Amino acid sequence: MNIILLGPPGVGKGTQAVIISKEFNLYSISTGDILRESIKNNDELGKKVKNYVENGALVPDNLIIMLINQAMNANISFNGFLFDGFPRTVQQAKGLDVIFTERENQVDTVLAINADNEIIMERLLSRRICPGCGMVYNLITNPPRNGEKCDICGLELTIRKDDNRETILHRLEVYRKRTAPLLIYYKEKLIKVNGAESVSDVADNIIENLVRYSNARR
Ligand code: AMP
Repeated sequence: MNIILLGPPGVGKGTQAVIISKEFNLYSISTGDILRESIKNNDELGKKVKNYVENGALVPDNLIIMLINQAMNANISFNGFLFDGFPRTVQQAKGLDVIFTERENQVDTVLAINADNEIIMERLLSRRICPGCGMVYNLITNPPRNGEKCDICGLELTIRKDDNRETILHRLEVYRKRTAPLLIYYKEKLIKVNGAESVSDVADNIIENLVRYSNARR
């Protein structure tokens, strides 16, 4: 089963990706995580994409497709793939179709998670990340136990460079213009999910939908 998590930044795609990939033994690919890791390592890719990522602009489609191909080739033993933050343009979606056609496979379902911009803004401004283990916290809904330190590593939590008001507004605009058209591209495969609910309610809703979908395919 191959699934796409579609939705604006901060709607909870990354959080849900962790839960769903475990539940269905899917390999979760987050293009944002891959790009941030490269920036952290200051490698060739990192140098190319740093400005785009930190300013909330989209990295060129050809680079993204190349990353997706590599990640898929290296992880073929799973039950399928879960894409988080990809595709973000119609061009990327077409690129993914080519990859799947070559593998005689397909995108099965697209989970469209949505929430109001005010909720998204509040969530992103209160997001904190552990620079050691990558654990994601939210100061309001999922705070660390001790001040702003990671529960696991004890390190001081950090704020993503693109989680400031101005860049968030830009990312929302980029989503509206470049990514939202995918709701039409994938209209036959779309399952709509209310991302304003709690993490566990959203997860339950998604799991229920996916179980129903896979039962119907049998
Ligand atoms: P995310 O972690 O998904 O919020 O992505 C963070 C940033 O990485 C985005 O604002 C873009 O700059 C870049 N990025 C992640 N995924 C993609 C993608 N599929 N296409 C283009 N840029 C991307």
